[in-house]
Amino acid sequence: MHPPLCDCPLEAVLELSHSARNPNREFYSCPLKKIKGKKECGYFKWFDVHALEVRERNLVREVANLRMKLADVEEENKQLRLQLRRCEVVDQPCSSSITRTSDSTETSMLEAISQLSYRMSRVEGKLGLR
Ligand SMILES: [Zn+2]
Repeated sequence: MHPPLCDCPLEAVLELSHSARNPNREFYSCPLKKIKGKKECGYFKWFDVHALEVRERNLVREVANLRMKLADVEEENKQLRLQLRRCEVVDQPCSSSITRTSDSTETSMLEAISQLSYRMSRVEGKLGLR
């Protein structure tokens, strides 16, 4: 996981909190803080909060990708159903095995999306967005 950028913007560095409220909790701060004579930007972010934010961004991206894939599968399914219907209309034997395969793919994608949505809501809950 990449560290966040401070407001300078430089790669933030990890430090350990020694406060009474947050003992031993890691946080990110401006790297210039440790360099004498340099003015730091005052950046601050808890490490666990950053980790959750990164995870949330990845989940959002994953869900978007799955939705796109699902749209493709749905379109493919639609075309196959049309094909099947055409075969039925002209009373020709038509292979429906592809349609069935596509159906199961669609189901597994829907399951994956609902799982990801659930994970997303949990991550958002931890972040206090919901
Ligand atoms: Zn900075």
